[in-house]
Amino acid sequence: MDADVIVVGAGPVGLFLAAELKLAGAEPLVLERLATPSEETKARGLGTLATEALWRRGLGDQLAEADAEGTKDLARDHGSTRGHFANIFKIVPDAGRPRTNIWQPELERVLAKHAEGVRVLRDHEVTAIQSDVDGVTATAGGREWRAKYLVGCDGGRSSVRKLAGFGFPGTPALLHTIAGRVRFAGDVPPSGRYPTGSFMQGGSMAGVTEPATGAEPEVTADELAASIERVTGTTVVVEEIHDARRFGDQARQADDYRRGRVFLAGDAAHVHSPSGGQGLNLGIPDAANLGWKLGTVLRGDKPEAFLDTYTRERHPAGEAVLRNTRAQSALLAPGPHVDALREIVGEVLDLPEANRYFADLLSGVRERYDFPYPAPAPVGEHCPDLELVDGAGRTTRLHEHTRTGRGLLLTAGHRPDPRIDVVAVANTGPLLLRPDGVIAWAGEGPLDVALDTWF
Ligand SMILES: Cc1cc2nc3c(=O)[nH]c(=O)nc-3n(C[C@H](O)[C@H](O)[C@H](O)COP(=O)(O)OP(=O)(O)OC[C@H]3O[C@@H](n4cnc5c(N)ncnc54)[C@H](O)[C@@H]3O)c2cc1C
Repeated sequence: MDADVIVVGAGPVGLFLAAELKLAGAEPLVLERLATPSEETKARGLGTLATEALWRRGLGDQLAEADAEGTKDLARDHGSTRGHFANIFKIVPDAGRPRTNIWQPELERVLAKHAEGVRVLRDHEVTAIQSDVDGVTATAGGREWRAKYLVGCDGGRSSVRKLAGFGFPGTPALLHTIAGRVRFAGDVPPSGRYPTGSFMQGGSMAGVTEPATGAEPEVTADELAASIERVTGTTVVVEEIHDARRFGDQARQADDYRRGRVFLAGDAAHVHSPSGGQGLNLGIPDAANLGWKLGTVLRGDKPEAFLDTYTRERHPAGEAVLRNTRAQSALLAPGPHVDALREIVGEVLDLPEANRYFADLLSGVRERYDFPYPAPAPVGEHCPDLELVDGAGRTTRLHEHTRTGRGLLLTAGHRPDPRIDVVAVANTGPLLLRPDGVIAWAGEGPLDVALDTWF
């Protein structure tokens, strides 16, 4: 064996998963196609669940530093720092739960540093995988690599997904966007919705959206100018385009996230439109969910079947995001009927309770896992970064106690257990947290059942 787990892809999800595996005592090996990290500026926002997952591992200061810059850029490009649903910029984020404005290349630098010590082999594209009863063999960089498990974190066009034969059902793209950092010469039409599409320009960013055509060649300045003219009726001169990209709103999800010894996480498991910036808010929690579970099984603390809880918990989370991004696509389509619907949704968003509903939908905080033992909420939910006060009145935050990556019991009583960390708290009811920050027990029912289920 070259490692316990081969992680295919050193994007944000692969890097975070590798660090989680290491923390759980496993030996990961990351195989990455690109020779150097990508500078593509896809994501610019990290939702609540992803932000909290990184805080739990001590990355809060680095995220806060990047957030200051990212928030300025967001205000410049979007004219608002509010969240949006289908480009209706009215969502007021939950003040009690964090999110981070960070560009994806910066996030990948933070995560690469966090994963220091993990073996990452660049210029190693995985071209074949073979699974048997004892392990998985991957071909990359002119040789074979063997491990007990393999996780495809290799993005939306995942080779692992195809090579391992995962089903990937869903809906094709309705809308097609081309965007980039653009320098125009002369006049530019106003941003907004037009009869056949929409055009957005802010700061150095510009993007144009039209019904999908299926075309996929590299974006050129001429193509962007032609698309803007088709949509707005204005002829523009695109002098320069950098960081050009095209994306659609196809929505697909792997039918299972596990096939024997092969798993999928992040975009490899689910693709959807970037509306609302939710890809990493799904992908990072996928990695947080899978990392400690693989570690647990590799240590022999749980049988193989324990790993089935990964799909059981994460597939519904993916379904929820596909649902809301499809709804956003419907609201982004051109035409007077959709204009009317957008106005009404905009009015609904002025109601505080509705605004909160949409904010929660996008941040994922209402996500709740179904556990094999009966327990009312908040069991199954992702625990926020609580303020903790001990018996002597000393205050800490939850994330200061979670860097070990172990289970954690917050309790006023004395309850040592070698399987988990225990922290004495006086200001909150007893809580048992899994390493991924999910509440496993909250004082109702026997603690031992929860401990035995997860640890
Ligand atoms: C325009 C745009 C805006 C977005 N905005 C946001 C946002 O604001 N917030 C948000 O959360 N999400 C956003 N997203 C989505 C986000 O970018 C993705 O969810 C994220 O990149 C997924 O990370 P990943 O690690 O799963 O995959 P990727 O980032 O795609 O990484 C996959 C890695 O695998 C490597 N790889 C691929 N094939 C192989 C192979 N065969 N062998 C070895 N390595 C391989 C690739 O080189 C790459 O490094 C946006 C996406 C787009 C397109």
